[in-house]
Amino acid sequence: MSFKNVLVPYDGSNPSRSALEIAKDLVGADKEATLHVVSVMTVPSDPFHTIPAASDALADYLLVEPDLYERAFRENVKHMKDDLEEELSGSLEGLACATAIDVMPDLTPVEGIASYVKRHDCDLVIMGRRGLGAVRGLLGSVSYGVLRAVDVPVMTVK
Ligand code: ATP
Ligand code: MG
Repeated sequence: MSFKNVLVPYDGSNPSRSALEIAKDLVGADKEATLHVVSVMTVPSDPFHTIPAASDALADYLLVEPDLYERAFRENVKHMKDDLEEELSGSLEGLACATAIDVMPDLTPVEGIASYVKRHDCDLVIMGRRGLGAVRGLLGSVSYGVLRAVDVPVMTVK
């Protein structure tokens, strides 16, 4: 079986870099495959504190103008994407497969990764067992959550 859309969820940690190396070995030479490298940027669910139960004390204050927020938000995503492209450019150079680099805003990394898998028909996820978090243990919360959330095979890497 050959995988045609392989996703590496990337947080810049060493395990996620190892995951990328394995993904390159696996599909880098396949002209029909696409290697997707995606970072999820977590965003607040209620940036304007419009949900009363969550924010009675703040109900009278609009902390940020929506237009300003929207613009800053878009710029932030674009900066993150530019940085990610620059960070990965050397490492993805010269591959025969197609590559896609993206930054996805979502409420949690797990939700962002799971919806990317669906939207792009990914058939394999290769990710780190741990990431940037300091807590020790076998799996981080994102790798654990992705294992539960997606139906495609997930390879976890040390
Ligand atoms: P925790 O975040 O629970 O403290 P951790 O940081 O050690 O633990 P995870 O966050 O689960 O571990 O990271 C495991 C793997 O998940 C990473 O190697 C990376 O492949 C992926 N990952 C983590 N965060 C993100 C993110 N924001 N965007 C994309 N991929 C991510
Ligand atoms: Mg983490």
